Amino acid sequence: MPDLFINGKWVDAINDATRTVLDPANDQPLATVAEADSDDVNAAVKAAREAFDSGPWRQTPASERGDCLRAVASELQNRKSELTRIESLDTGKTLLEAETDVDDITNVFRYYADMADKDSGRVTDTGVPNTVSRIVYEPIGVCSLIAPWNYPLLQMSWKLAPALAAGNTCVIKPSEVTPLATIELVKIIEASGVPAGVVNLVLGGGATTGAPMTEHPDVDMVSFTGGLHTGKRIMAAAAADVKNIALELGGKNPNVVFADADFETAVDYALNASFFHSGQVCSAGARLIIEESIKDDFISAVADRARKVKLGRGQDEGVEVGPMVSREHREKVENYIQTAIDEGATLVCGGKRPDDPALTDGYFLEPTIFDDCNRDMTIVREEVFGPVLSVETFTTEDEAIALANDTEYGLAGGVWTSDASKAQRVSSAMRHGTIWINDFHPYVPQAEWGGFGKSGVGRELGHHGLDEYRETKHIWQNISPEPMRWFEGKDD
Ligand code: NDP
Repeated sequence: MPDLFINGKWVDAINDATRTVLDPANDQPLATVAEADSDDVNAAVKAAREAFDSGPWRQTPASERGDCLRAVASELQNRKSELTRIESLDTGKTLLEAETDVDDITNVFRYYADMADKDSGRVTDTGVPNTVSRIVYEPIGVCSLIAPWNYPLLQMSWKLAPALAAGNTCVIKPSEVTPLATIELVKIIEASGVPAGVVNLVLGGGATTGAPMTEHPDVDMVSFTGGLHTGKRIMAAAAADVKNIALELGGKNPNVVFADADFETAVDYALNASFFHSGQVCSAGARLIIEESIKDDFISAVADRARKVKLGRGQDEGVEVGPMVSREHREKVENYIQTAIDEGATLVCGGKRPDDPALTDGYFLEPTIFDDCNRDMTIVREEVFGPVLSVETFTTEDEAIALANDTEYGLAGGVWTSDASKAQRVSSAMRHGTIWINDFHPYVPQAEWGGFGKSGVGRELGHHGLDEYRETKHIWQNISPEPMRWFEGKDD
């Protein structure tokens, strides 16, 4: 079956090109999908433009748009086991992780379904007699939505659900590495009653398919989740037409542990913060910033457990961490590991591919810990996006805060302490979009997500996540107009 979806029809790429999608657990082909280029993007943008301008979706009552999103949420649950399996195969993540993603995505669609008709604007009190002043919200127009490979369905849903709730039309692109579950999501959206042309799916590489989606003059907004480097290019491309943009970029997230924290729980979460999904998480707690007095015991406890993490195929029973997403990405992470060694960090554990012969074909990498790190090291400054934890130490609260803020990013961070006042002081001082106190990683659709600094522009989820996809309009009416005679003609 063709797998580009343009103007309500499933079609092949215009040039008939295809791409093989690989299973990261064994390097074997999983599927062959269409490979779009700028011609397909042009067709998709044309469909989205016409669907927006002719208005069937934006003029649909917001409550009915909400009903479509609710239908998508129901079908996501009906097809949960199938979607879980596809997402797990495509990304390498475990079935449990993929299942959690499908549940989270369902909640995101439900949240924006409920919000679609809840905030239609307001009347302002102008203080000017005989006037009515209303604030209303309108969709922005055609939105290009571009998602990365680590959470393909989840990241796309954070964009698609609010964009549709607000009445926009969309051209969407998952990463070329992980397109499979997004194809199924679009089939579910098609069946939910969303009109032709409102959601258009293109598959293909960043340069050939993603870039034209950001440059096309008929696109009004670009929402992108991905790396900092690509984000800068997209910001520059969007500037040419002054398009709206939302950018969710990387992170180099501190996990600050004070000596008065519950030791066992903090150790447990330090593992989860850094090695969950092989560390391929934008909010991974890849920088452990720990009070000097407990460092040795803490690192030893984390390393003991890191050595026992069960690597394997994400679909196999008992596996805790799957492979990395691609051969190229594992090589990139291995280069970071070598650089850390060259720059003087102390390798505590991991740092190599597993010896297990059953894992040699997949893109596996052992959980890796580096001690004796400092801010001049590449491993501390740059986002590695792999199972690599760097360790820095502090002796005072001020020093902990300074280290936590010593990054060009500002996505997320954790604070571990049993002192409630200290928790508030430190979390208030940390310049990051999300702070977890005595926890790490949870997010909910109700709470905004996004970063300070170079972690991005704008916010997803929550009220703000809907506002990203709306224009705000002020409508003023003079209900008793009469000449104001500002310019009185004067006879000389
Ligand atoms: P990339 O920036 O490489 O790619 C992200 C998406 O952009 C992919 O669909 C990619 O296509 C596409 N793309 C690449 N080049 C261009 C271009 N010039 N114009 C338009 N689109 C383009 O990121 P990764 O896929 O490697 O994802 C990892 C990154 O995502 C990490 O830095 C991570 O921190 C970030 N991220 C941020 C999150 C957040 O909430 N802040 C959440 C999750 C991830 P293709 O892959 O097909 O080349």
